[in-house]
Amino acid sequence: MLPRYYSYTQFEDYLQKILHALNGTVLQDLIIGKSVLQRPIYGLKFGSGKVRVLAWSQMHGNESATTRAICELLKRSDLDYLLEDIELYIIPILNPDGAENWTRVNANNVDLNRDAVLLSQPESIVLRKVCDDFQPHYCFNLHGQRSMYGSLNGSTPAQLSFLAPSGDQKKSLSVARIKAMRVINSINTNLNHRVDGIIGRYKDDFNRNCVGDFMMNSHVPTVLFEAGHSGADYSRDKVSMLVYQALVIALKSVGTNQILDADVVSAYESIPEMSTAYVDILIKNVPTPIGNRHLSIQYHEQVREGELYFIPILIGVNREDVLNGHRVIDLLGHHHFKNDLIVEGSFEIHSESLNIKIFAN
Ligand SMILES: [Zn+2]
Repeated sequence: MLPRYYSYTQFEDYLQKILHALNGTVLQDLIIGKSVLQRPIYGLKFGSGKVRVLAWSQMHGNESATTRAICELLKRSDLDYLLEDIELYIIPILNPDGAENWTRVNANNVDLNRDAVLLSQPESIVLRKVCDDFQPHYCFNLHGQRSMYGSLNGSTPAQLSFLAPSGDQKKSLSVARIKAMRVINSINTNLNHRVDGIIGRYKDDFNRNCVGDFMMNSHVPTVLFEAGHSGADYSRDKVSMLVYQALVIALKSVGTNQILDADVVSAYESIPEMSTAYVDILIKNVPTPIGNRHLSIQYHEQVREGELYFIPILIGVNREDVLNGHRVIDLLGHHHFKNDLIVEGSFEIHSESLNIKIFAN
């Protein structure tokens, strides 16, 4: 599997190997456009089934888990039977410059998921042209979310989450929206037991500048996938495999006709909403001259010389909105702590005795 961070040329080499192994299955493997910095954007078309599905990933450059999941899908044999019912168009990385530099935005500092109406960026225009030409029956909008998401009470992290976006301000339950909900329900039912934490549901406030909302506004059922974080999965290897499984379930589900009734909506609404209650490390009861304090620490991700580093940053003291950490250290009754917590200028925090340090992935 690709690692969490890969350079764009690393990705291109990997993709070429996959396409070579697929020999013949791919109807097209094309450069469909160029990024701001003139990197090629790839579009791959497979199958000739009746239901057309368009999936794009890494429109946010620092969200690689879903691209890795797509590569898994292409490497395995699932495609053979899935393609009996569907025609699949995949844009594995929509934002090559962001992927190379590990940034959410593109090289012009624009969030491509806020550019659906303006189409101010070459990458946005590429996606729109594919939508117009391919006329998908379904869209899968593939993303990764930060490690802050969990259940509302903060007891469990959200390892995966989904949204059937609204297509208008009234958040109408259009046919397109219910179709997207049905896909999500199918993933939730079949994958819930494998998830370490919860499968969460995103808020459905309408913003036409977001691609999913825009597509839904154009009556194309669109499913937002978000690969999340759980435990020590900083490589996001585990969640990438879950997303791959979710893709197989979703593709199977869109290929079959099922009933769209009120049960679809209630099943969808029973998927738990999320809060942003998690930090990477929560240190409780740190002794200070003014009493014990709880420290919230979040990893800042940075690519240096081709490697992804996680830098622990102090983001708050006694924050009431922080309910939990992927790692919780309570210093009450902690025997190994040597009072060696150091906070540096940019709020980088270190402690040898608590093993809090920068690490590479
Ligand atoms: Zn994203």
